[in-house]
Amino acid sequence: MQPLIDNARMFGQRPEEFAHLAKGQSPDVLFITCADSRVVPALITGARPGELFELRTAGNVVPPYASATPTGEAATIEYAVQVLGVKHVVVCGHSHCGAVGAVVRHDDLTAVPAVRDWLAHAADEPKCSDPADPTVAEAVQNHVLAQLERLRSYPCIEKRLEAGELQLHGWYYEVHTGVVREHRAESDTFETL
Ligand SMILES: [Zn+2]
Repeated sequence: MQPLIDNARMFGQRPEEFAHLAKGQSPDVLFITCADSRVVPALITGARPGELFELRTAGNVVPPYASATPTGEAATIEYAVQVLGVKHVVVCGHSHCGAVGAVVRHDDLTAVPAVRDWLAHAADEPKCSDPADPTVAEAVQNHVLAQLERLRSYPCIEKRLEAGELQLHGWYYEVHTGVVREHRAESDTFETL
């Protein structure tokens, strides 16, 4: 922890770099990814403060939209789309994802009931021909596509898609190489960016 505190102390010594951010934010992109510490959106994309609006959940799960039961995820998505007017939403899964791996391996999650219930409630089991593959690449990629489909059911997203004002992107990030692949609709495959 101490090195992180030291860096945070240093970070605040360049106020002139950040002064313009007081005027507000207008990011183009909502970036939805896993909470995994190996996935660092700003590092991957080179984004500066103000450029990425982020939503991070265990397993980059987008929960089902239900207006009767507000969630932090739905609020974050709605704010990004309706208020900030982001033009792109990226759902970025990653290799070696513990959450997706647990779903396809049917791991016993009794010791982490909140994780178990979150995944049971929000994550359908993705198609996976080899659950023993440590990267769980196939499962994660299918899982990303399922989250994109779920996003389409959010009223605010549906509206902006119909108006042609929003684009959805499916990404797969390899934590062990740094390579990013994106889903290409034409071939229905994930290809290197
Ligand atoms: Zn993960």
